[in-house]
Amino acid sequence: MKVFKFGGASVKDAGSVRNMSNIIRQHLSSPLVVVVSAMDKMTNAFEAILATTMSGDDSSAQIEAVKAFHKNIIKDLGLQTNPDLNEDLDQIYEQLIHGLNSYSSTFGYDFVYDQTVSLAEVISTKIVAAHLNQSEVPCTWVDARKVVKTNDDHRQALVDWGATQAMIKSQVNPLLAKGPVITQGFIGSNAKYNTTTLGREGSDFSAAIFATSLKAKAITIWKDVPGILNADPKKFNSTVLYPKLPYKEVAEMTYYGASVIHPKTIKPLAQNGIPLYVKSFQEPSAEGTSIEECVVPNLHPAIILKEKQTVMSFKISDFSFINEGHILSIFENIKRLNLTINLMQNSAISFTICMDDNPLKREQLQTALSDLFSIYYNEGLSLITVKNYNQATIEELMKNREIIIEQRSRNNFQVVFR
Ligand code: ASP
Ligand code: MG
Repeated sequence: MKVFKFGGASVKDAGSVRNMSNIIRQHLSSPLVVVVSAMDKMTNAFEAILATTMSGDDSSAQIEAVKAFHKNIIKDLGLQTNPDLNEDLDQIYEQLIHGLNSYSSTFGYDFVYDQTVSLAEVISTKIVAAHLNQSEVPCTWVDARKVVKTNDDHRQALVDWGATQAMIKSQVNPLLAKGPVITQGFIGSNAKYNTTTLGREGSDFSAAIFATSLKAKAITIWKDVPGILNADPKKFNSTVLYPKLPYKEVAEMTYYGASVIHPKTIKPLAQNGIPLYVKSFQEPSAEGTSIEECVVPNLHPAIILKEKQTVMSFKISDFSFINEGHILSIFENIKRLNLTINLMQNSAISFTICMDDNPLKREQLQTALSDLFSIYYNEGLSLITVKNYNQATIEELMKNREIIIEQRSRNNFQVVFR
């Protein structure tokens, strides 16, 4: 069997949904699980509805806009008179209102987020399944909340692999003979069957969860780019497509901030030896990128840009030197505040870190450490990591930049600049 994953851009309107169903239609020779995200920017729209509600304002106009967006697609697909779909969606919108109203001191933001924002994926997959069934691709809709089991960490839930694999095997496997299974990414449930989510953009990871549980032969993530490129085409002019990449290379690229695949996706696939293909839904017959256990000599340099970076320096002002005790107190506070360091450097009298901009936590860190150090910071900087760098790439990238920190190892070049 195989697993496909389609993200929001691949179901952003009726034409895209039809294009997706054509791709599915061409791959019916082996059993298929299809993980589909919320349509277009619906996750952001649902987050905005929640924010409005929580601030005590009226979110009904935003809810109407979300309904109208889906209704348009339903109409364009000729599904407006489908009684089951209409009934399902009415129920889902009721759940949305109920979820929004449940916000209280008992049910905080993270809990309510999961009960409400998750519904964008449910709506999307209901529409996709209805469309497939109508266009003679009989499929089964599966509620991922029933089979993907997690802990209670709302918005960043950790998967209970044992329970999840058992549920997927027993609930999904028997359905595969009946045609493609359509399900949601990003969502699951805890032991009490409250909905949980796996973190933004988590559908890639969901696809990997289904793939490993069902021992898939391969997984394909269909995207609006031709595959894995050596840099984000929205930020860099000339990019190169990698035909083939080792798991490890892609895992590291996601660690440094490449957003092409969710960072948690690679590990379960690598552990189970399941190849991952990244392909364009606009050009489905093109090869794309295949990610597997392999050695690729002379990989083209990969350029990963992280914007909105803060550099913070902790300086000793009494003529003593930075020692392990100082570094320990810095790290204890970073851990306590749940911050992530993207790069660090030390000198005789200072220790410097680079992290994502977060003025609130930066201030808390400053307060906690101001007795020990003089603290200086710069916000709004950029961090570039070049994997497998060469001199020409670095020179080209660093033209006219004000460099704040520069580091290189044998394989990686990193620079923070203004
Ligand atoms: N719809 C969710 C998001 O936009 C999950 C996903 O697309 O992967 O974050
Ligand atoms: Mg999305």
